[in-house]
Amino acid sequence: MKTFVHTDKAKIEEVIRKCDVCYVGFADTDGTPYVLPMNFGYKDGVVYLHSAQTGRSISILERNPRVCITFNTDRKLICQHPEVACSYSMHSNSVIAWGTVQFEEDFNKKVEALNVMMKHYTDRTFSYGDPAVKNVKIWVIELEEVTCKEFGVSYKNKHL
Ligand SMILES: Cc1cc2nc3c(=O)[nH]c(=O)nc-3n(C[C@H](O)[C@H](O)[C@H](O)COP(=O)(O)OP(=O)(O)OC[C@H]3O[C@@H](n4cnc5c(N)ncnc54)[C@H](O)[C@@H]3O)c2cc1C
Repeated sequence: MKTFVHTDKAKIEEVIRKCDVCYVGFADTDGTPYVLPMNFGYKDGVVYLHSAQTGRSISILERNPRVCITFNTDRKLICQHPEVACSYSMHSNSVIAWGTVQFEEDFNKKVEALNVMMKHYTDRTFSYGDPAVKNVKIWVIELEEVTCKEFGVSYKNKHL
């Protein structure tokens, strides 16, 4: 089994689009790490997240807005010999991306961000009440460095 590095933008976006959750890693200024599962939207190299206005994640972001986001999908347990533990592996596609959280305050841009997030999960269209838009915290993360790896690829099945 082999791990492949993908640099193709279309492949990276396909992996991100297939995920229903991302894992957002924060680094507090005292060095304490914090990772949260979050729903998300993605469009044109930008990840959109939403949250309550306060909480541990918001407090950390006020001190350090840098985040690392992991996306992981297509997990499948595979093995070459069922009796051999070290022949077990997991096929999977994974993307890791870094960026800086900016909070969106403009009402119409918050609605656009909510639409991007909802579109990730459903083709329905939505309207939002003013208080809902005003009360939600919208995070906008322009992805800077992005890496993509595919794990558990059989030599036999992969044609380079
Ligand atoms: C599949 C999934 C999708 C989610 N999507 C979103 C989303 O889109 N937006 C959103 O705001 N939240 C989402 N959540 C919840 C999110 O993971 C956090 O719990 C939430 O954002 C509150 O984070 P906070 O830092 O403000 O926590 P606080 O309310 O400040 O948390 C207090 C303490 O609770 C613990 N805690 C917080 N979150 C979790 C957790 N997830 N699991 C275990 N312990 C926890 C920590 O010890 C933390 O110090 C999702 C959760 C799941 C499981």
